[in-house]
Amino acid sequence: MAKTSDLYDVIIIGAGLTGLTLAAKCRQLGLKFLLLEAKDIPGGSLRPNVTQEGRLPSSLGFIPDTHLARERLAHLSELLQDTLAGEGLEVPPLTVKSGEFKPFVGFADLDIKSVELFSHFNQSPAIRLESMPDHWVERLLELVESQVMTRAEVTQFVLDAAESKLSAVIINGDKTLTAKSFFFTGPVSSLNELFDARDLSQKSRQMLAKAKSWTALSLHLKHSESFVPPEGLAPVEQSNLVFLLGSKNEPEPAVGRFFPKENTSSWLGFIPSEFGEDSEFAGEALRHIKKLVRRAFALDEAAIVSEKITLSAETQGQISLKTKSPNQLNEAPNLYLASPTLSESQGLEAALDMALQAGQWLEANLVETESLPTKELRVRDLGQE
Ligand SMILES: Cc1cc2nc3c(=O)[nH]c(=O)nc-3n(C[C@H](O)[C@H](O)[C@H](O)COP(=O)(O)OP(=O)(O)OC[C@H]3O[C@@H](n4cnc5c(N)ncnc54)[C@H](O)[C@@H]3O)c2cc1C
Repeated sequence: MAKTSDLYDVIIIGAGLTGLTLAAKCRQLGLKFLLLEAKDIPGGSLRPNVTQEGRLPSSLGFIPDTHLARERLAHLSELLQDTLAGEGLEVPPLTVKSGEFKPFVGFADLDIKSVELFSHFNQSPAIRLESMPDHWVERLLELVESQVMTRAEVTQFVLDAAESKLSAVIINGDKTLTAKSFFFTGPVSSLNELFDARDLSQKSRQMLAKAKSWTALSLHLKHSESFVPPEGLAPVEQSNLVFLLGSKNEPEPAVGRFFPKENTSSWLGFIPSEFGEDSEFAGEALRHIKKLVRRAFALDEAAIVSEKITLSAETQGQISLKTKSPNQLNEAPNLYLASPTLSESQGLEAALDMALQAGQWLEANLVETESLPTKELRVRDLGQE
């Protein structure tokens, strides 16, 4: 794990897919960088899901087959020097009615609050992925591990008001780390807490306060050996996504899929972020997801060997900030906001999109310094422009 030193070219905040991809880009560019992660294990939403019975997938492994998605995957492929995207697969989403799979045609008249998040998964064809996203995260981590600092939560931004730039971040309330440029991949809504209120204009504070996102709740199941996945799923490695609809009184749905080879299944639902820290609300929403799964497939306790629930706070949704330069606050032009909720895409594609955009911004702001014996690349100090 990383040792800290005086001044970095780049500090990246958050070691999920976005932060790790960006860190690999910094490594490729030969920059002096540090990746800070609040939790004890990197990976964010894709951190390994390990249970006593083995490993469970951390995502649904779904990316719609679009030109943009392929372009973003190609960027990650280049960093990992591996092929990640296979052919497009026609695996139309399904739903379950009276115990049978039917094509999923939409939510009809159900009043679904998180409908745009689910719509992301209601697309076909999908890209057949050569490896699952949790493995991408592992491989990225291998590349940048020596520059990752875990249990390092950024609790404050230090603004140099005279030079109008971010000069440092404080981690865990007491340690100061300085860099020329900073990338923030955490939730946009937490920025108001990270800046001293006096450092931001009222307009910026109000804009950030409006940033509303969603928290992802997931249920990962390991099935017993005798369990046979229901018939009717596409007989390919990447089985169809299945939408499970609640009744009119419990409209929020869940989406998920079976992984026949691993004998597991993963299910996903969303709650508004303001309820993400309300354990009773989140617990109730998780029980609802479990009820939908058990009801759809008539699963009894014997069909489930173990289960793991996860909560990824404020990671989903789309937010637009009206700033002079995209993804930058006027008060701190050397802080690039790379949270996926700022992307026009969603989910994994949004994470890869923000890492790509942030990397392009970084390259555009690199200067060559003639330091003998070799030429070095350094990040231009935007605050002094
Ligand atoms: C179960 C599940 C299945 C999914 N399946 C799919 C799928 O099939 N297809 C799809 O498109 N999308 C899917 N998604 C969504 C997708 O995984 C995420 O959108 C994506 O991984 C987000 O990556 P990220 O790095 O941007 O954010 P995150 O994974 O949230 O990582 C952000 C990291 O930043 C850290 N952080 C935040 N603030 C600070 C701070 N102040 N200091 C230090 N560290 C900080 C957090 O601890 C976290 O580790 C799924 C999500 C879940 C939960």
